[in-house]
Amino acid sequence: MTGFASIRTLRNSGTVLLLASVASCGATDLVAPFGPVGPRERFIPLPIYRVWHAAIEACAGRQSDFDAIIWWVADSLAAPPSAGADYETDATWTPPHTITLRRDRTGVEWVVKHELIHDLLQNGDDLNPILLRCEPIP
Ligand SMILES: [Zn+2]
Repeated sequence: MTGFASIRTLRNSGTVLLLASVASCGATDLVAPFGPVGPRERFIPLPIYRVWHAAIEACAGRQSDFDAIIWWVADSLAAPPSAGADYETDATWTPPHTITLRRDRTGVEWVVKHELIHDLLQNGDDLNPILLRCEPIP
């Protein structure tokens, strides 16, 4: 299993367009963006997220402050550069407590739990044993 096995990725032609526009601006060092492609918006977490948060706390045997999390949504999210320049991801976690979800993934339990576990552990490692144990297998 690679570090991105649990981050579903898709081809994203939008990222290619963004890279093309960066190139046209005269950038000499193209680095694939990681995170929102285009604008993002603040997002009020769905009520079910508290239930999912409680479930991952129970699984991990640790607690964290759900209300500390700042939620955003974006139409498209570029994956980390190591995943490939034209891939996108479902969601990102940024320390200490920022989760950005792709708009079409806000209702997907395993995606939200994955990011909640990163926040709970304060660790972005996709191979963390607690993450692997507590993330629901899609
Ligand atoms: Zn992850």
